[in-house]
Amino acid sequence: MRYFDLHCDTITQCFTQNKDLTENDLQIDLKRAEFLDAYTQCYAVWLPDQFRGQAAFERFFAVATYLSQEIEKNSNSICWQNSVDNLSQNPCQAVLTVENASALGGNIENVEVFRRLGVKLCSLTWNGENELGRGVMSPGNTGITPFGREVVAQLEKNEICIDISHASPELFWDVISIAERPVVATHSNAKHVCAHPRNLTDQQFEAIKVSEGLVGLNLYRGFLNDDSQKASYEDILRHTEHFLNLGGEDILAFGADWDGSARRDFVATGIEAVAELYEMFCRYNYSETLIDKIFYKNAADFFERQKSH
Ligand SMILES: [Zn+2]
Repeated sequence: MRYFDLHCDTITQCFTQNKDLTENDLQIDLKRAEFLDAYTQCYAVWLPDQFRGQAAFERFFAVATYLSQEIEKNSNSICWQNSVDNLSQNPCQAVLTVENASALGGNIENVEVFRRLGVKLCSLTWNGENELGRGVMSPGNTGITPFGREVVAQLEKNEICIDISHASPELFWDVISIAERPVVATHSNAKHVCAHPRNLTDQQFEAIKVSEGLVGLNLYRGFLNDDSQKASYEDILRHTEHFLNLGGEDILAFGADWDGSARRDFVATGIEAVAELYEMFCRYNYSETLIDKIFYKNAADFFERQKSH
């Protein structure tokens, strides 16, 4: 089976806890992922809201460098997704992404650094407010700032798509109205199924679909079930079913949010649980073609399309 995941916080955790990607006690390590026939993981550099300005940029650069070093160190088991030799090398690939554009340190010229390091997706905010706009967990009703508009244009010019997970509704719709590339929600579920503010309304899902973007299913309990203690694998199917009913067959993917919180806050233990998830989808009578689209192909095709954009 193949698996493509749009969002994890694993590399940020590896950096802060001085752990490596080969083998660790986090939700993802390369050893435990060996059972997958093909596996691409988007590794987000997450900027907590206490980092701003130059300190935010320096933190981003340090974590991104750490990921590069980990990939180099493990070059027999993982490579960059867009590297020339990725087919001959191994089935495990990495994509660099950014969660919270405060990583730019308020300096538009740092988009060039993102491009040079190979960033493919970037969210404008995390939960709080920054110089680009408001995250969904901060109060207010303001939309994108003039700097935010400038950043969206500059990111897109550098072939970096906007990740809209964590955006406030106002920021979301402002981005939809100005973005020229597809818009992605890397790790958000359906608000119709679980009313958490981090989840997407049907209208938001539709707008992402029209942009030919992607939506990644999140395995965090609080986004799966209104009563997070009762969250289960079956809830993943409820969100999947809802998105499929909205015509999401070609844009649905996974963005499990691995290591975005404590292991107990997720319905799945870690990367090894993808096999169980896959089996559950098979038992639900989805066709193998559809399951492979959600688990891998939709996201893989998306990144392939971006190359020739
Ligand atoms: Zn997140």
